[in-house]
Amino acid sequence: AQLTNDDVRNLARELGVKFIRLQFTDIFGVLKNVSITVEQLDKALDGELMFDGSSIEGFVRIEESDMYLRPDPATFVVFPWRPRDGAVARLICDIYNADGTPFIGDPRYVLKRVIGEAKEMGYGMNVGPEAEFFLFHVDSDGRPTTMTHDRAGYFDLTPVDLGEDARRDMVLTLEQMGFEIEASHHEVAPGQHEIDFKYADALDTADKVVTFKFVVRTIAQRHGLHATFMPKPIFGIAGSGMHLNQSLMKNGENAFFDPGAPMQLSETALFYIGGLMKHARAITAVTNPTVNSYKRLVSGYEAPVYIAWSSRNRSPLIRVPAKRGNSTRIELRSPDPACNPYLALAVCLKAGLDGIKNRIAPPPPCDRNIYAMTEREREELGIGCLPQNLKEAMDELVRDEVIREALGPHVFDRFMEAKQIEWDRYRTQVHPWELEEYLTKY
Ligand code: ADP
Ligand code: MG
Ligand code: MG
Ligand code: MG
Ligand code: MG
Repeated sequence: AQLTNDDVRNLARELGVKFIRLQFTDIFGVLKNVSITVEQLDKALDGELMFDGSSIEGFVRIEESDMYLRPDPATFVVFPWRPRDGAVARLICDIYNADGTPFIGDPRYVLKRVIGEAKEMGYGMNVGPEAEFFLFHVDSDGRPTTMTHDRAGYFDLTPVDLGEDARRDMVLTLEQMGFEIEASHHEVAPGQHEIDFKYADALDTADKVVTFKFVVRTIAQRHGLHATFMPKPIFGIAGSGMHLNQSLMKNGENAFFDPGAPMQLSETALFYIGGLMKHARAITAVTNPTVNSYKRLVSGYEAPVYIAWSSRNRSPLIRVPAKRGNSTRIELRSPDPACNPYLALAVCLKAGLDGIKNRIAPPPPCDRNIYAMTEREREELGIGCLPQNLKEAMDELVRDEVIREALGPHVFDRFMEAKQIEWDRYRTQVHPWELEEYLTKY
């Protein structure tokens, strides 16, 4: 059962909550906090707390800066790592304009809008994310390094299982906060970890991803480590992705499952795949939003490069895991954990719905190793590739009306503005690689 405002008031009293953090994200998915004391809780729950939106990146112009926070009572949770006395809780908020209308620049609203569109078609989206991250040591000044805990054993700094301890603590903390953890394991790269929690509806999952990243960072810090969701922190070893397992429900059943169909995949599932593939290049700007994201999307590290789907192997963009029945789902393998989960889920769902509406059939599944094919073979099979850098992805986003519509004009404009600046700053930098390559050669 979902919590109501009254439940929140009661719980706050029972649990001795003293401080409440009102949380929301900017368009980059960066978590923002407005801290209040429990005395202000009533006012907050009534949606009467105001903040200055012009101080938040990508939000509003100065002259229209008064915004209201409306906490979603279902998101109430107490931080288990803070003292019992004077406990700290948080509420995730929706953002409203002064005139009481939802603010179109609020990423949570962007997702809610696309969820509404799905609902009109009879669908509810379920998502299970697999967020990977690195745990690095901090130096003597407390600054993060890129030295991993398991390599540290080699340098004789600390016991080798420091990272494992931290991860165990993360899992326990997340469970105390209501997460159902399905798996937690060391990933392929040294210092790299994955913690999987159970799928839920799209909004709940987006909220959880934001919470997850914040908890992982906080707990890492308490273990003297730095957790990073940067997609590719170290050249030459695997980067961190955030696969998005997606399915649609209709009338209480998994709409991707059809026991009588080939592969037991419904027409809906196939069209959803078709839509995702059609919009894959534009979506990438949102699911892989940093310059660094594209250093992960290269061959050789299990990250996707080519736009194809398969039920057999893990190289393509979309994999259909073998499980059927309620677990029937598709796994989009391109997203990375630097994305804003609200926007990422919004564009995925929008693309899938477009596939269903317009009956976009996907090409046949590709069960061969695409990396081993020649360019010619790929061309013959019509296998395209994902954008190779942020600029290419941005150009695709500009051209894709459907995905732009999912974001809405406000978020689209602010996102493009910010990404153009990010790209230009990167493009004009002289990188260490260039010095190494050219300084003595020319
Ligand atoms: P992988 O085999 O790719 O490593 P994991 O087991 O790590 O996959 O993660 C699978 C994710 O898919 C979990 O978050 C799980 O809850 C989620 N999942 C399971 N069934 C569904 C479903 N029907 N819809 C969406 N997600 C699902
Ligand atoms: Mg996994
Ligand atoms: Mg697994
Ligand atoms: Mg993994
Ligand atoms: Mg996976």
